[in-house]
Amino acid sequence: MKLKPWVKITLFLFIIIIIFISIKPLFKKDNNINNNKSIYEEYHIPISKQSKTLDYVLNNNIYDEKYLDEYQDINYKEEDYFKDILLSFLPLGYKGKEINYIMSLSSLNRNKLKNKEYIDLSNYYNIKNFNVDNYDRYEEYFKNNNYEYKDVVTYVNLNLDLPVYTNTEEAIDANNNLVLVNKYNSLPADYKPSDLETVKGYYGDQVPMRKETKEAFLNLQKAVKEEKGIELMATTAFRTQARQNALYTDYVAKHGKEKADTFSARPGYSEHQTGLAIDLKNPIRPSGERLNDDDYDWLKNNAHRFGFIVRYKKEKEFITGYDEEDWHIRYVGINEATIIYQENLCLEEYIDLYVKQY
Ligand SMILES: [Zn+2]
Repeated sequence: MKLKPWVKITLFLFIIIIIFISIKPLFKKDNNINNNKSIYEEYHIPISKQSKTLDYVLNNNIYDEKYLDEYQDINYKEEDYFKDILLSFLPLGYKGKEINYIMSLSSLNRNKLKNKEYIDLSNYYNIKNFNVDNYDRYEEYFKNNNYEYKDVVTYVNLNLDLPVYTNTEEAIDANNNLVLVNKYNSLPADYKPSDLETVKGYYGDQVPMRKETKEAFLNLQKAVKEEKGIELMATTAFRTQARQNALYTDYVAKHGKEKADTFSARPGYSEHQTGLAIDLKNPIRPSGERLNDDDYDWLKNNAHRFGFIVRYKKEKEFITGYDEEDWHIRYVGINEATIIYQENLCLEEYIDLYVKQY
């Protein structure tokens, strides 16, 4: 096929343009150096120190000769906060590599860090629930315990370094399926969910629980009957604060406060008040027993399919602050319960790792 001359010329020009466009970026960096060359000379900076960050500080008139080596280590970021990071953290004594880590923190953590004297962050790299506010407590807890930093961060965030019922916080959103109620987290006084419904209970009474919890529980009951041929019935679910008060007062009178705190919640600190927790019993077990090992085995490996978790496990006693209760389940939702089950977490750990923002 023969091409007409004008087609040949057009094609030729077209190819030249394409080549020009594709090799142009290769010269960009050199241009930049050339642009800054006179500034480099003015400040007596060897061209070998050239970096994007150094160019940035020179072009923005924030160059300081004492940080020349740090500029080389700091990864340039095209973000509005980059200038502020350099101006805040270099004078505090942070090295270039530490500043790269600081840039990976949340803006909340960065702002808290800005107002603190220099702290050594090297033990906290890649710990996603690191909270600058708790730094001194982490260091103290690490010294006194035999845990890795990753666990130290979680445990201190959960207040395990403080006595129970201190530093307590009241739930902001008590109606949330993930509301955390434990010895450091309470419900608003006399909180009562507005969507309570009932299911037939073990004692022949109507047991109140929240609507979504009830629906999930009916599915769980159906499945355990089909798969194991057993019944799991509710003995208690929602409990008012007044009722909890009466129970706790009674336990304290009988066992003393210290003992009572290991198995009963103080009023306002009981998960039963959320309407999301259910105590179970298999009716064929003897009166002193709620579930046998076999019942529990099914429950612990299947509850998540319906959005429940076994709330107080043996291996998590030191976090939950409660003795093991194989019969107490808590509704959180299927996705959340599945992660908690698969990663063998307790609710406290899950919330600290996946819900809270530091
Ligand atoms: Zn319970």
